[in-house]
Amino acid sequence: MPQPIWLFDLDNTLHNASHAIFPAINANMNAYLARVLGSDGKPADTERVNAVRLDYWKRYGATLLGMVLHHDVRMDDFLHEAHRFDDLPAMIRAERGLGRLLERLPGRKILLTNAPLRYSRDVMRHLGLHKHFAQHISIEGMHVHRRLRPKPSKAMLRKLLAKEGVPAGRCILVEDTTDNLKAARALGVRTVWVTGYLASSPNLKLLAGGRPLRRFTKRPTYVDVKVQSVRQLPDYLARLRR
Ligand SMILES: [Mg+2]
Repeated sequence: MPQPIWLFDLDNTLHNASHAIFPAINANMNAYLARVLGSDGKPADTERVNAVRLDYWKRYGATLLGMVLHHDVRMDDFLHEAHRFDDLPAMIRAERGLGRLLERLPGRKILLTNAPLRYSRDVMRHLGLHKHFAQHISIEGMHVHRRLRPKPSKAMLRKLLAKEGVPAGRCILVEDTTDNLKAARALGVRTVWVTGYLASSPNLKLLAGGRPLRRFTKRPTYVDVKVQSVRQLPDYLARLRR
């Protein structure tokens, strides 16, 4: 049987980004948006910033895309500002034993993250995981016909599969974001949903509104395997390769 090709997400899949990194990114983005949306040298108020963020996130799947399209913002500039951290290593939380896990998993591993290159490279190095990956695809590498197409873009995934020269069914996407899994599954990619860090996601908490989180982590039909942690992946290898 040919070896699988693993596509690993980074944030809230390989480490707990909700612990300190996402809150910092949110604060950075809000400050940046307030500056860009402001007028006469005055930053925009919180209400306006939140409304715009939510609107672009819903319409384009990412605040960045809306800012680039409608406010003449440069992608590099936005990403740089959003990913400024005083002490990134101190903010990273991850499980132990991920290096050994990746070593044990058969097949090529590709990091596929909507985060920028510098940040994702720093996190991967800090975790000591970079050496287990044959390729590192960050948002800067997600262009199709010169347009930015981050996850969950099917066009971007199709391009990636064509470049790898492998059938979709040989690839396995490991992710916490269900929209990304859904798009991948539609192309025939196998899907693993990592739910362990969802409980710390402020978006999900908001959505659940005090109701049990279990309702929101029920396995959808486009998810082949649901795990708490990537450390459970070896237990499901046979099912994923069937
Ligand atoms: Mg993620």
